[in-house]
Amino acid sequence: MKIAVLPGDGIGTEIVAEAIKVLKVLDLPFEMETALVGGAAYEAHGHPLPESTLKLAQASDAVLFGAVGDWKYDTLDRPLRPEQAILGLRKNMGLFANFRPAICYKQLVDASSLKPELVAGLDILIIRELTGDIYFGQPRGRRIATDGHFPGAEEAFDTMRYSRPEIERIAHVAFQAAMKRDKRVTSVDKANVLETFQFWKDIVTEIGLQYPEVTLDHMYVDNAAMQLVRAPKRFDVVVTGNMFGDILSDAAAMLTGSIGMLPSASLNSKNQGLYEPSHGSAPDIAGKGIANPLATILSAAMMLRFSLNQAAAADRIEAAVSKVLDSGLRTTDIWSEGTTRVGTVEMGDAVVAALAK
Ligand code: NAD
Repeated sequence: MKIAVLPGDGIGTEIVAEAIKVLKVLDLPFEMETALVGGAAYEAHGHPLPESTLKLAQASDAVLFGAVGDWKYDTLDRPLRPEQAILGLRKNMGLFANFRPAICYKQLVDASSLKPELVAGLDILIIRELTGDIYFGQPRGRRIATDGHFPGAEEAFDTMRYSRPEIERIAHVAFQAAMKRDKRVTSVDKANVLETFQFWKDIVTEIGLQYPEVTLDHMYVDNAAMQLVRAPKRFDVVVTGNMFGDILSDAAAMLTGSIGMLPSASLNSKNQGLYEPSHGSAPDIAGKGIANPLATILSAAMMLRFSLNQAAAADRIEAAVSKVLDSGLRTTDIWSEGTTRVGTVEMGDAVVAALAK
């Protein structure tokens, strides 16, 4: 089992170190190799995704990724910005399905911005298509300035597009995920306005016929946004396009209280995947030793389950995280009155200790 470890920038290095600590105590035959990505790679090699890093990722069963980015790179030409590394990895590894579970741990129910009864027991899975939609439409590459701006232009536009195979494969992923859960899929679209999403809706419906045990419903994205904050527990699996998924998964993340708790996985058709916390590099707290490492540790658990076929080890990590929360330890982002505030390293140590018990 080969894992490419790409810590990246900001808190990326701090949180990935804790996840590695946790993986190491499992005593499984991993081979881990670390490489630079994002701003760190730009500083060392002049590119956020050097050829050597990409090759390592492609040759591995899974990539454990921290986060990339810093405001100091905002003035760089777009192709050299740290965030381009993620797009490059997605594209070159063919990662098309992004899994973002939003689980509200009972111990953190008060950290949510919604009323406890709305989020207690919340367990939804947002599946976002990653390779199509308006983010990869035609005008890409036709930019008239490499810095991404349009001096003197009167208009700008992007084209929304999806192909049948792209929709079919993400629909299969969603129905298969639902089969292992509560057997409900909500497909989110904007078919009332956009042709692309009428096409999406028709194809998802067609694929749904192959999964008679799964209940499929369709929802417009504006209503889905509303339902997510009104009655989030009505959802089981939500499947949607690249842009709507980008927005809805962040909204769903906040239902659970802290972005520091949420893992994610991006998979290709061979189950090779990139695993990363849902948050960014948090430059505001980088180097302070206070970042929450649990999203990254839980991403490592997803990696064990989806790409490395080690479901039992994944269950053990998730149970250990729950035990640590039961014991009242909290990083600053999830701290509340009556709990014990700890730093990044102490939180990682606590998960290691809970695993050993
Ligand atoms: P962010 O997710 O980095 O931070 C948002 C807020 O959440 C900050 O206040 C931060 O301190 C807090 N936060 C995030 N993760 C935390 C954790 N583990 N523990 C405690 N608090 C945490 O988003 P941002 O500030 O908008 O972006 C910062 C940089 O990250 C930018 O350069 C952005 O482009 C980049 N970014 C990278 C990724 C990625 O690598 N996948 C994703 C999003 C943003």
